[in-house]
Amino acid sequence: MNVQVIPGTAGTREWPQTDRSEAPKAIEHPQGRFRALTAKNLDTITDYGNVNGDDLFAMRVVSTVLPFRTNRYVIEHLIDWDRVPDDPIYQLVFPQKGMLADEDFRRVADLMVREAPRPEIERAVFDIRAGLNPHPAGQREFNIPSEDDEVFEGLQHKYRETVLFFPSQGQTCHAYCTFCFRWAQFVGDKELKISSKDAEGLHRYLAAHPNVSDLLMTGGDPMIMKTRVMEGYLRPFTDDPALEHVQNIRIGTKALTFWPHRFVHDEDADDMLRLLEAVVRSGRHVAIMAHFNHWQELRTNVVREAIRRIRDTGAVIRGQAPLLAHINNDPDVWARLWREQVRLGIIPYYMFVERDTGAKQYFEVPLVRCWEVFRQAVQQVSGLARTVRGPSMSATPGKVEVLGVQEVAGEKVFVLRFLQGRDPDWVGRPFFAKFDPQATWLDGLEPAFGEDAFFFEDGLRAMTG
Ligand SMILES: *Cc1c(COP(=O)(O)O)cnc(C)c1O
Ligand code: SF4
Repeated sequence: MNVQVIPGTAGTREWPQTDRSEAPKAIEHPQGRFRALTAKNLDTITDYGNVNGDDLFAMRVVSTVLPFRTNRYVIEHLIDWDRVPDDPIYQLVFPQKGMLADEDFRRVADLMVREAPRPEIERAVFDIRAGLNPHPAGQREFNIPSEDDEVFEGLQHKYRETVLFFPSQGQTCHAYCTFCFRWAQFVGDKELKISSKDAEGLHRYLAAHPNVSDLLMTGGDPMIMKTRVMEGYLRPFTDDPALEHVQNIRIGTKALTFWPHRFVHDEDADDMLRLLEAVVRSGRHVAIMAHFNHWQELRTNVVREAIRRIRDTGAVIRGQAPLLAHINNDPDVWARLWREQVRLGIIPYYMFVERDTGAKQYFEVPLVRCWEVFRQAVQQVSGLARTVRGPSMSATPGKVEVLGVQEVAGEKVFVLRFLQGRDPDWVGRPFFAKFDPQATWLDGLEPAFGEDAFFFEDGLRAMTG
C-alpha cells in the first residue's frame, strides 16, 4: 500500500496503486464528527490542490446557483488531486464553469464582480434556477397521492408495487453531486421541495394499499438521518401486522461514498446496523441502493469495512448510478466498477441516463453513446455482474431501457423497452424509435416506421390529463 501525504493537510491518504482488494488494515478514522464544507469554505478546500484563481471564481459563481457541499473524507480520501480538474470525484462534487449556460454564468459573474446588492443576485439566481427544470418527469404533478382530501406530501406512488418515500429529515446528503437531479431540494427554496415529516402518514398509506410490496426510501439521503429518526420509520415494519405485505424495503443512499463512517464510526452506527438487522429478521428483503459512479469510490478501507458491516446484517447492497460526461463516460470505468462491486458483494442494478435537469448540458451523453458504453462494459464482465440493466431513462411514462440500435426493414432504429411503466401492461414490450445520434432523452425521440405515436402515448395522456 502506497501512502501519500497531501500537502497542506495533517491527514494522510491511502492510495493503492492496484485495484486488488486487500483486507482492511488501518481504517481511515474521521477527524471528529461529520462536518459539511460548503461554498463558504471554498478557499480552504482548494488549498488541498492547486486550483487556480479563475477556477476558484468559477466555482463561486456556479455554487451561487447550484448546491455545493463536501466534507473532509471526500477531499482527503476520494479525490486524486494530482488529476484535478479531470479527477472524476472532483467533477462529481466540485462546481465547474461549464455547469451553467454561458449567458447564465456571465450574468452571475458580472453581478459578483461589481459586488451587486444581494437581492439583485438572488433575483438572477431565482430566474436561472427556474429555467433548469427543477422537477423533471412530472414528479410533482402526477405522482403525489391524495385520498379523501388528504395529500400525502412526502410520497410518490408511480409504479403499482412500489411507494417512494422522502423523509423530511433526509433531504440533504453528506456531500452533493454536481449533476444531482434533486438539486432543487437542496437550495432552500420551499416551493421546490418534496418532503414529509409524517411517518404516521406513510404507515397509514401503506396499510391501506395491500398491493404495495416495496417501500423505497429516498432523499436527499435517508442515511443522513440519526438512527433514532430512522427507527420511527422502520421499526413498525418489524411488529405491525398491517404492514405485513410490504416485503421489500430499499434505502437509497450515497453515504458509502460520501461518508462511510456512517456505518463504522458514527456514534449511532452500530444502532443503525442493528435496526437493519431487525428488519431483515422480520422476514423482509432489505436493500441498500448504493449510488456509485466510479470505482474510485470503492477503494478506501473504511468503505470496504462499511460494506462488510452492512452485509453482516443480512441486508443486500445493490449498485446504481447515472452515466455522465466528465465522470464515467467510459466502458472500462463501468466494467471495473461492476467487477469491484461483485467482488465486494454488491449486486450491480441500474445504469441510468442522466436526467433532463440542472447541469444537464454539461453531463449529458447521447443515448447511442450510453448504449455503446453499456454494451462495451457488459461484454467485459462475467454473468455475476450482468444483473445490471440499462441504460435506463426514468421518464414520465416509466423507466425505459435502450436495448440497442438495429436496422429493421431498411430503417435504422432504437430498440427500447419499459423496465417499469406507469401502466404495468407496458412493461417488457419492445418498441422502436427513429435513430437519432443526438437524442439524449425519450422526449427527443420519434416513433419509427412512420407511425404517429408511441404505443403508450394515448394511455399516458389518459393518466396524466
Ligand atoms: C425506479 C423507481 C422505482 C423502483 O423501480 P424498480 O424497477 O422496482 O427498481 C419506484 N418508483 C419510482 C418513481 C422510480 O423512479
Ligand atoms: S447523493 Fe443523491 S440526492 Fe444527494 S446530491 Fe448526490 S445524487 Fe443528489
